[in-house]
Amino acid sequence: MGRRRGDTEGDRRSLTHKVASPEDSEKDDRRPATKLVQGGRRPEWTSDPRLGGGIVNPPVWRASTILYDNIADLKARGHATHDQLYYGRRGTPTVWALADALTDMEPGAEGTLLYPSGVAANSAGLLALLSPGDHLLMVDSAYEPTRAFCNGMLARMGVRTTYYDPLVGAGIADLIEPETKLIFLESPGSLTFEVQDIPAITAIARARGILTMLDNTWATPLLFQALPHGIDVAMMSLTKYAGGHSDVMMGSLTATRAVWPRLRQAAYQLGQAVSPDDSAMVLRGLRTLDVRMARHGENGLAVARWLATRPEVGRVLHPALPGDPGHAIWSRDFQGTSGLFGFTLKAVDEAARTRFIDTLTHFGIGFSWGGYESLVVPSDPAKIRSAVAWADPDPLVRLSIGLEDPADLIADLERGLAAL
Ligand SMILES: *Cc1c(COP(=O)(O)O)cnc(C)c1O
Repeated sequence: MGRRRGDTEGDRRSLTHKVASPEDSEKDDRRPATKLVQGGRRPEWTSDPRLGGGIVNPPVWRASTILYDNIADLKARGHATHDQLYYGRRGTPTVWALADALTDMEPGAEGTLLYPSGVAANSAGLLALLSPGDHLLMVDSAYEPTRAFCNGMLARMGVRTTYYDPLVGAGIADLIEPETKLIFLESPGSLTFEVQDIPAITAIARARGILTMLDNTWATPLLFQALPHGIDVAMMSLTKYAGGHSDVMMGSLTATRAVWPRLRQAAYQLGQAVSPDDSAMVLRGLRTLDVRMARHGENGLAVARWLATRPEVGRVLHPALPGDPGHAIWSRDFQGTSGLFGFTLKAVDEAARTRFIDTLTHFGIGFSWGGYESLVVPSDPAKIRSAVAWADPDPLVRLSIGLEDPADLIADLERGLAAL
């Protein structure tokens, strides 16, 4: 599924509907917003020369069975590895279009595989790259279900996991063992938003022949391009900003040429497939990701700056704020901010946090994030961490800032703080 453009043969050059495609020039110099608009719209997926014209969006091709002209055709296509109709599990042009668009967003990527959720993508990547006896370095601020997979299935398989301080930077070298095969990163971290020194870690990993995998859900490739920073496998929960409308679940892994065949083989063996309908929904989300992300970031910063002025607030955990411990590295490496961050309520108990959250009317109480609507959840990292204790006793709140007018959100938060 979804190798980068130019890797498949075909007669698309003879088709009329033309979308700029990088194989036409040596280097793809289109900017990210342009790629989001054009991604996956290959002529052979959006037009049929017999019908004339071309459709803007790749149509939803639903399929389990693919019919062949004859046995020779069936045998020939059995050897194709991607981007050819073979059997529904291998995808249809709708699915390939999404994978292709995501591959475009990571310069240097060989391809993208899609999974039924972000968790499925993370688990599949870890399974593909680790074997019994291997050692994994996992960031302590990883998304909790990622830890659950390491402590559960990976441990059962005989893979050892060491959790490391998200701020370890080049100190990662001291944690590497002879069996270390993979370093997993997530930046900013789940719940606590520590920014990792990704270039320092990938430089050491490359020098030692260790692979790196990054959960890039917070930033998406719009705000942080993983592969150019030395990452081998970039993971995203497309459920969040890419889907963007709180109505579809999916995950992706985008990888270098060296790693991609291993992910593909594992995906084949695990049988993970995504539906063309869901793929079309995520593709629709991608088209507006650039404008939504800009607004999520801007609204989030407006709310974060306001919270930072409030006496009821202890700390605002937002790397785009100059006072944040991760601000310097974030400024160096990221192209902008998304709308997800946290803050603590100063010297109050859990009941006060509950009163605060229950008072809000513009924020839904719910998991996930990255949708157009604002969400709030209480979070308790102290219960999860194992490498470095989360020492802040003040109760933590996580906000996903949506596309509402931030003045309304701020007024709502002000009512919430008054209820403390
Ligand atoms: C939500 C999330 C995931 C998992 O994605 P799902 O699509 O919900 O399975 C993985 N990583 C991070 C950082 C997340 O926030």
